[in-house]
Amino acid sequence: MATLGNPQNTIAVLQKYKFNFQKKFGQNFLIDTHVLDKIIDAAGITKEDFVLEIGPGIGTMTQYLCENAREVVAVEIDKNLIPILEDTLSDYRNVTVINQDILKLDIPALAKEKNDGKPIKVVANLPYYITTPIIMGLFESHVPIDSITIMVQKEVADRMQVGPGTKDYGALSLAVQYYAKPEIVANVPPNCFMPRPKVGSAVIRLTRHEQCPVEVEDEKFMFRVIRASFNQRRKTLANGLNNAPDIQVSKEDIAKALEELGVGASIRGETLTLEQFARLSNILKKYM
Ligand code: SAM
Repeated sequence: MATLGNPQNTIAVLQKYKFNFQKKFGQNFLIDTHVLDKIIDAAGITKEDFVLEIGPGIGTMTQYLCENAREVVAVEIDKNLIPILEDTLSDYRNVTVINQDILKLDIPALAKEKNDGKPIKVVANLPYYITTPIIMGLFESHVPIDSITIMVQKEVADRMQVGPGTKDYGALSLAVQYYAKPEIVANVPPNCFMPRPKVGSAVIRLTRHEQCPVEVEDEKFMFRVIRASFNQRRKTLANGLNNAPDIQVSKEDIAKALEELGVGASIRGETLTLEQFARLSNILKKYM
């Protein structure tokens, strides 16, 4: 089987199998070898690595991963792509394709079986509608992860990377930065895909922190505080916390907590750093 990653071979495979793109699965296949090289490079894949690929499509990136990794498991939801993957990956002995929704796969069990529970690398060109649940699911379930290297909508990549005081800063930035160090490694224009998406994309690498960057007593509670602070962007942080049904702290105690944090009563959530959110949630817990 010829290597994919260029328009001619991609069209040939699609025609051979009379493949119809399914919009609901966010199918935009990569047709640019430079981008594929960049992803493999950024993910730092070596022959020691076990790699989980989410959404292999017709197997374009999977071929690159098989060449560079020890073992690859590729999880694809669309059953129509399975016979295609059997064909395009027929030269490789180090790959297993699983026909399943990634959101339903027991990834900790997979990491245990395939990599002795050691940190795995995840690589994906993700359908945009499931970017956040996949990333948060991977981090929150405490799957042993070394890094996640993913293609996402440019705007989402920006949101993951920014700090306080910018319009893109929000719950996703804080969640990603709590678990990992985000770095955009490439911007990818629409003409690198077939069919062309409407928006620009970016490859972002999230390298899992070895140690948590902040001291937080109750991780889940901190994320409740963060969500409450960004739910009502136009309101002050005090109002946001006060209106959150899952934060049972009185108005007076919220005011005291903000004072203890050393910020003014009229401060907005979007100006607080991750470290400040961690401290604030530790303080608020005392009043619950
Ligand atoms: N990796 C291929 C490439 O770069 O050419 C395809 C990328 S395409 C943007 C996204 C792929 O994810 C599609 O093949 C789609 O069918 C698959 N997909 C969508 N939702 C999925 C899910 N919940 N679980 C597993 N795969 C999914």
